[in-house]
Amino acid sequence: MRHPLVAGNWKMNGNHESIAALIASLLEIRSDADVVIFPPYVYLPLVVAGIEGAGISVGAQNVSEQHSGAFTGEVSGQMLREVGCRYAIVGHSERRSIYGETNQQVAEKFTAAQAGGLIPVLCVGETLEQREQGETLAIIAAQIDAVIKGSGLGAVCEAVIAYEPVWAIGTGKTASAEQAQVVHQAIRQQLGDSGAKTRILYGGSVKAANASELFMQPDVDGALVGGASLDAKEFKEICKLA
Ligand code: PEP
Repeated sequence: MRHPLVAGNWKMNGNHESIAALIASLLEIRSDADVVIFPPYVYLPLVVAGIEGAGISVGAQNVSEQHSGAFTGEVSGQMLREVGCRYAIVGHSERRSIYGETNQQVAEKFTAAQAGGLIPVLCVGETLEQREQGETLAIIAAQIDAVIKGSGLGAVCEAVIAYEPVWAIGTGKTASAEQAQVVHQAIRQQLGDSGAKTRILYGGSVKAANASELFMQPDVDGALVGGASLDAKEFKEICKLA
């Protein structure tokens, strides 16, 4: 019922040469899963053109909560849609922790992304300290609740949610498949009946070696992959496993 999705977040990495090589390898992907790539803004048109016809989607790593006007350095959902994006990540933990994005701002970005015709990939997750304090589920529920308040439950159910424990991002530490399933199930329960169709991805040091076990969990519908998405062989293998 839910089609698996594998997303590759390239973050602020790459140049013309390395991205051309990654595009060539994306064209070799054979997977039943939906695949979406999130390159840096400036390379979006290059990637959109390079993967044309390959059945792979492209998304933006961030989106402005504004629609247009005097907001230097910002890029709107509509602009992203116009250059060929289908998705936009909102609330990535690096945006929350480094750039101070609050739940409220993430909720506004979510609304703006959908208004611009994009499918938001809403990232949620707890820090290690919050996990150790037993606050994981409450933190995640609050992050999602802020977006439900802003856009409505129906809108959140139409989006993609990515559970990304902050302590597992770029650290090599993955949540166990059981830890991931507990959180994914809680998220789905929070969404109620309509949540049965919502794709919930796991993100945090996903590699070919740990992907299968995660994908076997009933509420894990794919992965948001950071570091390993820059390694063509690893990423192809993860897509194959989904
Ligand atoms: C991410 O940045 O969303 C991520 C999951 O990174 P990594 O796979 O490198 O942990």
